[in-house]
Amino acid sequence: MRLFLLVVGCALAVSVAPANAQSWALLDRALAGATQIFAKAQDALGASSMGVSTEVYAQALGQQRFRPAGQDTAVTVLFKREDGADPGCARFAAYVIPAPQQRTATIYLCPQFFQSGTDELRTTTILHEMVHVVAGPDECLAMAYTAGVQLLATGRFQPVAGYWRQSGCASSPYRLPATR
Ligand SMILES: [Zn+2]
Repeated sequence: MRLFLLVVGCALAVSVAPANAQSWALLDRALAGATQIFAKAQDALGASSMGVSTEVYAQALGQQRFRPAGQDTAVTVLFKREDGADPGCARFAAYVIPAPQQRTATIYLCPQFFQSGTDELRTTTILHEMVHVVAGPDECLAMAYTAGVQLLATGRFQPVAGYWRQSGCASSPYRLPATR
């Protein structure tokens, strides 16, 4: 359920985080970038892809509020910024914890999300975590779906071969797109 991106050492996580407003600006940019990429891929995905409903995913990403298939009540997607003390942040840039009773799913954003990498990595993280929000903890699904969306939208995808291997995805039902 938790990922992503770079499995970085804890040493990185203790460097100074940017000011709060700046952090949220980075998140807004990543959300806007992810929404833009998904919009380009949306038609080609059809009604669903890899079992993920295109409409439900679009709602979650675009409105941070979605209605799961067969359910009447909407789920709200929340974002929470975590500091390095969160053990979930030792290895991941972000992770998701669903709270079905509260009708929420929270994306926890770790220091790595704000500190390392580029807007493109942050955008990838948002696309990836949103798969967990709507479809659960399967890492292989989240990686394959994200790569598929990126490929459809831009002709390429963020390489995840290392994490794919670590997660044992070769024996999963999912595949990364073929690279040329
Ligand atoms: Zn993940």
